[in-house]
Amino acid sequence: MRIGIDLGGTKIAGVVMGAHAQIVAQQRVATPAGDYAATVDVIAHLALRLEAAAGASNLPIGVGTPGAISTLTGRMKNCNSTCLNGQPLLADLETRLGPRVRIANDADCMALSEAHGGAADGAETVFGVILGTGVGGGIVVRGQLLRGANAIAGEWGHNPLPWPQPGELPGPACYCGRSGCIETWLSGTGLAAEHRRLHGGSWRGEQIVFAAEDGDAAAEATLQRYEQRLARALASIINVLDPQVIVLGGGLSRLRRLYRNVPEQWKPWVFSDEVRTRLVAAQYGDATGVRGAAWLWPEAGEAAGAA
Ligand SMILES: [Zn+2]
Repeated sequence: MRIGIDLGGTKIAGVVMGAHAQIVAQQRVATPAGDYAATVDVIAHLALRLEAAAGASNLPIGVGTPGAISTLTGRMKNCNSTCLNGQPLLADLETRLGPRVRIANDADCMALSEAHGGAADGAETVFGVILGTGVGGGIVVRGQLLRGANAIAGEWGHNPLPWPQPGELPGPACYCGRSGCIETWLSGTGLAAEHRRLHGGSWRGEQIVFAAEDGDAAAEATLQRYEQRLARALASIINVLDPQVIVLGGGLSRLRRLYRNVPEQWKPWVFSDEVRTRLVAAQYGDATGVRGAAWLWPEAGEAAGAA
């Protein structure tokens, strides 16, 4: 058995995963948003409560977080929950729980989860994408997470939107200091901002989707531009990584039309006469991150996870 914990912006979910990826126990608590010390405290208590529920102790623990651990300082970086940035989260959790904690980015956990029994089961190379408040990415090759030299493998959200079209430059300002990052176009907030720029109003992403389904022409046009941009952004990934499967997670991954329309529209940008890449939704939905966190530790006798 091993523990998976998913540290989200509003909630912290935890599971105990047993043999054959069965969920033995699960709990969730509210995230003490903006309070780092309380966040460490809540995660440590959650791990102990999960062990009690499973009747076990000293289980290995995987934690999915926003951002990544800096290879330079060992502290968190790139987190959109900014109270984590600069904090030694891994060291603080190991002080509380012992040397049995692994941390990975939430998009990495999603890709890992879906590569093991999920929507990308058995695929040699998987690119996992989170389309939510931000835009994250993770890469799993032959069941193993690709970390990279700087612990940012798959982080495509702050690359520029490729093959810019008229009106797309310099693009919206991004919190990272640059303009026109993929995240500024393809996150939920990016979608809403784009609609506001061209059509006014103050709709959130969800309202734009509902309006398009009701036949609103402006909302439909916004979603079509979104699909074209997602197609270009993913085509640039296909040209480099050539994954068998691209899995979408996060709020916008629930938009079913993406799986029909985006693969039609990425064809002109992919450097190949045919495109076999599959675009699929995360099979485990909201639970995929917490499952993937547990998969940071291999099942006994397997070589999954990551060192
Ligand atoms: Zn950026």
